[in-house]
Amino acid sequence: TPDTVAVVGLGAMGRALAARLLDTGHGVTAWNRTPGRDADLGVRASATVAEAVAASPLVVACLLRHSSVHETLDPVAGRLRGKALVNLTTTTPNEARELAGWAAGHGIDYLDGAILAVPDMIGSPGAQVYYSGSRAVFDRFRTVLDAWATSTFDGSDAGRASLIDLAMLSGMYQMFAGFLHGAAMVGSEGMSATDFAARATPFISAMTDGFAGFAQVVDGGDYTVAGQQSLDFSDLSDIVRASEEQGVNSATLAVVQALVSRQIATGHGSEGFARLYESFRARAVR
Ligand code: NDP
Repeated sequence: TPDTVAVVGLGAMGRALAARLLDTGHGVTAWNRTPGRDADLGVRASATVAEAVAASPLVVACLLRHSSVHETLDPVAGRLRGKALVNLTTTTPNEARELAGWAAGHGIDYLDGAILAVPDMIGSPGAQVYYSGSRAVFDRFRTVLDAWATSTFDGSDAGRASLIDLAMLSGMYQMFAGFLHGAAMVGSEGMSATDFAARATPFISAMTDGFAGFAQVVDGGDYTVAGQQSLDFSDLSDIVRASEEQGVNSATLAVVQALVSRQIATGHGSEGFARLYESFRARAVR
């Protein structure tokens, strides 16, 4: 464990990461583009990125996006040579791979991380961070990583952790949009979103048990296996119509309905809902 960890970026997440390091007995030297973000935090603040990265063999970056990482670290690439860089900035898989290539070109040992938590959760057991890239960095600095969250290593392809992270967020955002759409439906007749949330949470939570069943069918490659709810039965047109009758925008629902209709039209109506996997896999709707 290094005496000091260099943290680059003290936004909401960077501050939470730095605070947790301090809480667990690590020293932190930090840089942030806008000075003063370290107020009350207790880190050693650096005036320049160069000064911060010089403070530790381990540099942790948590910036806004891929381009911010380059803007911040390109000028100090030479000073990062031989060091470990853990990048917790959200990027696409290809952006993570690009950064891994850039790092390799400068003799920097690169580990990409994807945080599945909000800042308040950092340091609690429910927080998760997926990592991919340098196994050596993951192993060497495991104590630091484990201070933040449950750490999972997903292999040497630097893009892997972010792929899984963004796939999970796809599910999350579509679920959130579905909840808000439902809230607008009942809201059209005066039911509060709070009352709707009280009904929706246990139901939707129970429905996530269905993931494993869908997964089994998808991985088995046979959408006709018995015991599934058929696509014919899963037709969403009643929901779309009800939404429209209530004067509520049905755009997101209509997209799912279109995928179902297409599968039915091409002769897959008696197959299970898991068949939609093929619609996504095809890139073009079919
Ligand atoms: P904030 O908006 O709170 O902070 C953004 C940080 O990036 C600030 O330190 C900001 O500096 C810095 N920054 C932005 N652009 C540049 C630039 N061009 N050059 C240098 N520094 C720059 O975001 P968060 O801290 O919440 O998020 C940071 C990363 O963590 C993001 O990639 C986000 O997706 C990821 N993340 C965040 C989660 C969350 O719940 N907050 C959850 C999971 C991942 P300045 O103060 O000068 O503006």
